[in-house]
Amino acid sequence: MRPKNPLPAVYPFAYQSRPRSGNEVNGLGKSEKRLATPVFHSTGRGGGRQPLDWAALDTLFNVLSSPGCFWQVLRSLWQRRLYAGPVASDRVPVDDPVAMATRIKAKAKQLGAGVVGVTTMVDDALYESYQRPPYEYVVSMGTPMDRREMEYVPQPRAALEVMRTYRRNSRIAIDLAAHIRSLGWRAQAYADGEDLIQIPLALSAGLGQLGKHGSVISKDHGSNFRLAAVLTDLPLAVDAPVDIGVDDLCTSCRRCTLDCPPGAILDDRQMVRGVEKWYVDFDKCVPYFAMTEGCGICIEVCPWSEPGRGAVLSETLLAKRREGSDVTQ
Ligand code: SF4
Ligand code: SF4
Repeated sequence: MRPKNPLPAVYPFAYQSRPRSGNEVNGLGKSEKRLATPVFHSTGRGGGRQPLDWAALDTLFNVLSSPGCFWQVLRSLWQRRLYAGPVASDRVPVDDPVAMATRIKAKAKQLGAGVVGVTTMVDDALYESYQRPPYEYVVSMGTPMDRREMEYVPQPRAALEVMRTYRRNSRIAIDLAAHIRSLGWRAQAYADGEDLIQIPLALSAGLGQLGKHGSVISKDHGSNFRLAAVLTDLPLAVDAPVDIGVDDLCTSCRRCTLDCPPGAILDDRQMVRGVEKWYVDFDKCVPYFAMTEGCGICIEVCPWSEPGRGAVLSETLLAKRREGSDVTQ
């Protein structure tokens, strides 16, 4: 698909007075490994409350958002009180973590998640100066957005669907955490990116691979979903990262690069805090993202996000790779 009449990338005031380069805060071009620094928003619940360089922009656009989006933001904030809760005193024993992982994933899907996987905590998901969450396992989940609504990116109609999905996502994580606690095991919902970085968890849990547009690409939903997680002590078998052929296509495809209004998507991998990976220019993307209440052009124009296309794409790309390696052997 192509974006419908995207707003030009003109940032009336906030961008012009940008506080400090978000790329610098993110460690773009730095080869030393270190944890991420919060830059755009943070609840400070992780013990890392500190002035954030871009917090004013986040607050400003929340306040200026459309009534529909603002209402969804308020409802999501209200739901946060349910992220944690009491644990049942009778503990269900877990003899078989594989069977328990299957059961928990089925529950997450029944609640509305489209993709689910399990991992242990990874350092890339943590912010510096935050306390490490005291749980061993992470259930990472993606909730699909309504593709018909998302075809209107970056118009308010699509923005409303983004906000609705964030709230649905939060509800699914809350309900899954409550379900695990009812089994007698500690569990807490983390349904936003403010205390944990969701993408590294999703990659480690095998939900998909990182695309050039900086989002996770899954075989079944492309990038047309939003992430949440539940952290728990419940013993679960962990999943492995997957290779569905994303890099093979991103290396030659430029769809998202061409369609991103502020030109934020870089064609080559970048060194970021000691890891070479796809990277989106924060200073260009975030003001546009905030101005359009979630943008999402790059994830919707991506061929993987076309309904029903991912499995075929993956099969074709992996087959081509195998043929290529046969030739060189
Ligand atoms: S649009 Fe193309 S380059 Fe961008 S993430 Fe999707 S496949 Fe990769
Ligand atoms: S979300 Fe950011 S990177 Fe993606 S198209 Fe919009 S401005 Fe570009």
